[in-house]
Formats: sequence, structure tokens, C-alpha cells
Amino acid sequence: MIIVCPACGAKNRVPDEKLDAQPTCGQCHQALIPLAPIELNEQNFSNFVSHSDLPILIDLWADWCGPCKMMAPHFAEVAKHNPQVVFAKIDTEANPRLSSAFNVRSIPTLVLMNKTTEIARISGALRSSQLQDWLDEQLKSF
Ligand SMILES: [Zn+2]
Repeated sequence: MIIVCPACGAKNRVPDEKLDAQPTCGQCHQALIPLAPIELNEQNFSNFVSHSDLPILIDLWADWCGPCKMMAPHFAEVAKHNPQVVFAKIDTEANPRLSSAFNVRSIPTLVLMNKTTEIARISGALRSSQLQDWLDEQLKSF
């Protein structure tokens, strides 16, 4: 499958059986699956989302949002345990066009995407166990 490098944006072909072996980018040698949330923005979003073969869970957040800050460590924690999903954060203040493209009404909002298709979304802060349960439920129908 194709995994887009979160550091440099290069497209890397990774055999399914190597996904668990901490693959690195052929271009910049950074971890392709960092098991931590990556940052998406108006510059790298389109390349990343259109080419990544892994589903992407996006946390739409803002610096002034208390519940977003409360959820951040939970989001990072769940990222560690789900190498089959790319965890990404989008700062809605810094990326107003993405924010409006997602039609964000409240934050935090989580959006699960497969390529450019939105699979599911949920708004409001979740604890790690709630987030994992919600994610498992969505991935069942994947
Ligand atoms: Zn790279």
C-alpha cells in the first residue's frame, strides 16, 4: 500500500506485511507510521489525503478551545495503539479554508476519512476509551 510520509510528503510503497515493522521513508528516513498525531495544513492536506492508503482520523481543534486541550493527550494515546490508522491534527484557526471545507460547527470535531471520502465524524471531547470504541465501531464497516 501507499503511505505518504508525514515529514516530507513523499509517497512510499510499503508491503502490507511490513506495516508492523516501523517502516521509514525512502526519501527522508523518518518514520512513516510515527504512532503519534501528525500535523496537516492547507499546504500538505490534499497530497496526504488523496494518496494515503491508510484511513486518516483528523482532530479539528484550536488553541483557545479547552475541550480540545483536554482531548489532546487521549488522542495521542489512542494513536499509539492504532498503527492501521493515521492520526492527524488540523489547527482550525491557522487553516480557515480547511475548516470551512469540513464545515466545522464546533470543536473538537473528529473526522475519519478514507482518501477524500468522509466516513464518519463526531464532535465533542472524548476520553481514550470512548475514542477507541468509536473508532473500532467505524472501522468494522470499513
Ligand atoms: Zn519522508
